[in-house]
Amino acid sequence: MLRIADLDGSRIPLAQHTESSAEKDGVLTQEIELQSTPRRRIRALVTLPLAGSGPFPAIVCIHGHGGTRESVHDPASAYRGFAAELGKHGFVTIACNVGQHELQEAVRTVPGERAWDLMRCVDLLEAMPQVDRARIGCAGLSLGGEMAMWLAALDPRIAATVSCGFLTTMDQLEQGHCMCWKLDGMRERVDFADIYALIAPRALQCQNGLAEPPTDFCVPLARQAFAEVQRAYADLGAADAVELHVHDGGHVVDVPALLAFLTARLQTSH
Ligand SMILES: [Zn+2]
Repeated sequence: MLRIADLDGSRIPLAQHTESSAEKDGVLTQEIELQSTPRRRIRALVTLPLAGSGPFPAIVCIHGHGGTRESVHDPASAYRGFAAELGKHGFVTIACNVGQHELQEAVRTVPGERAWDLMRCVDLLEAMPQVDRARIGCAGLSLGGEMAMWLAALDPRIAATVSCGFLTTMDQLEQGHCMCWKLDGMRERVDFADIYALIAPRALQCQNGLAEPPTDFCVPLARQAFAEVQRAYADLGAADAVELHVHDGGHVVDVPALLAFLTARLQTSH
């Protein structure tokens, strides 16, 4: 349905090129260009801890509608600078621009292109000696929360996921929302809970805010969807690996909860 099944990352050289490099506040920030599909290059914003000895855990940080790869570092945004906070706490981070509504290659879908670019970010992380390949995670808000769901569902290299401001039902998103989530043939087969269930038994935190309006990613619908996700984890004996974190905010990232979850799952060895 995503129309990316013909792509094989192991057969597409990354051909990465560092465009810029700067050190600030204990973090090395690099702009890296890399090959996404054989026909398309993308840019990623990578941060590396300067202190401590690697290899480090790494997080793919995903923005939503109207954002850029810089937005996830901005403390004044709905992302609350979660990528910058992860950088301060000893994580490597990577962020690319999530495709909005323009298809780059006619044979694909918009969600498929977004997911593929994120999987290429994982390929780049795996190629970096500073990164521990066994401790790669992802996190995002809104459309970024949706793409965190897709990335973790599609890519078993993702060991831990935080999906903020997205867990709900497809019925809800049919009403008054941007329809870019909808793929041909998807509604007949699954709901969002089924896609999240593909992440089991790997660690998953969903975040939903109590101040979300009833028409958006409200907590009652998140609880309804979460009950289904939980069943998949329980079936695999991994009930402890999944949680719904309900916070007092609106459509925002709860950074302390995100940090606590990813630190517990990826900073310490299990
Ligand atoms: Zn959209």
